[in-house]
Amino acid sequence: MNLDNFPRYPLGHWPTPLEPMKRLQASLNAPSLYIKRDDCTGLATGGSKTRKLEFLVADALKHGADTLLTHGAVQSNHVRQTAAAAARAGLRCEAILENRVSNPPAEYKQSGNVFLDWLLDAKLHEVPGGTAMDEALEALASRLREQGRKPYVISGGGSNPLGSLGYVMCVLELVKQCESMGLKKPHLVLATGSAGTHAGLLAGVHALGLGWPITGVGVRASKEIQEARVHNLANRTLELMGKKPDLPAQKVVADDRFIGPGYGLATETMVEAVKMLARNEGILMDPVYTGKGMAGMIAMIRSGEFFKSDENIIFIHTGGAAALFGYRWVFDQAAA
Ligand SMILES: *Cc1c(COP(=O)(O)O)cnc(C)c1O
Repeated sequence: MNLDNFPRYPLGHWPTPLEPMKRLQASLNAPSLYIKRDDCTGLATGGSKTRKLEFLVADALKHGADTLLTHGAVQSNHVRQTAAAAARAGLRCEAILENRVSNPPAEYKQSGNVFLDWLLDAKLHEVPGGTAMDEALEALASRLREQGRKPYVISGGGSNPLGSLGYVMCVLELVKQCESMGLKKPHLVLATGSAGTHAGLLAGVHALGLGWPITGVGVRASKEIQEARVHNLANRTLELMGKKPDLPAQKVVADDRFIGPGYGLATETMVEAVKMLARNEGILMDPVYTGKGMAGMIAMIRSGEFFKSDENIIFIHTGGAAALFGYRWVFDQAAA
């Protein structure tokens, strides 16, 4: 299987490293633990969206676009990565930011990803939480078209079949890396949000017949809703690849026990996980996605029942540490 028929605009450093986490493994008395460093994709502090954007930006250029349009939460990593991709490709970027945190301190709206969006010259439009974001994005696209611009609309998180190919590409990297490191049948663990990362990994593993288990840890939607969304997108991604959309539903797992009060809102286990990774491995997680995904993985390891003792667990580090600067208050509260 290869993805050569799908043009990519080069944005990242590939392959990202696959590294052991020996100290975390020892402190949790865990099976073998590894981390796929997609926080190190090289684009403006990196992250998972770089993989998706290589396909999406190539498509935007093919369609003669002059502007990338997308949406996200205020501290969106996806918006920051899209702004950086636009800068690199010589396109403009406009983004609608949904304010989902009530009464945030100034740093939430000014620091972290928001500061980087500004530096990368994205034009930002803030809207209140609960706004119908896809509709708002279409309305903005129409306004820009009336002005003679040529916007290319990227859905939230870059999670459509074309963007999900980025995580099929990640599976191809992992196959080579696992082979050279002697890792048999790894168990992949990741944070799952707009579903493209999870769907791409499932589509790649299924298309190659690898049989690797994949456990998603939800950050927003309930288990039922997230699993249905991921399943649907994985099958549409398989179709785009010219494969049968026959991924069995039971392969799709999105645990919703670690979301806490809601998307982008802190939990104690997230704060603990972010601190553990920083202090045991010198690796920065983020408060919205990987911190909750890692909290889920840690709880599953502690339960002693979820992973087999001879299993090689690979956590997919999807990035996001830039958001830490917009969420410092959460950790201040935890330290107090
Ligand atoms: C977007 C994002 C995710 C979630 O990936 P989806 O493809 O949206 O499910 C996970 N981690 C980080 C850091 C992200 O920015």
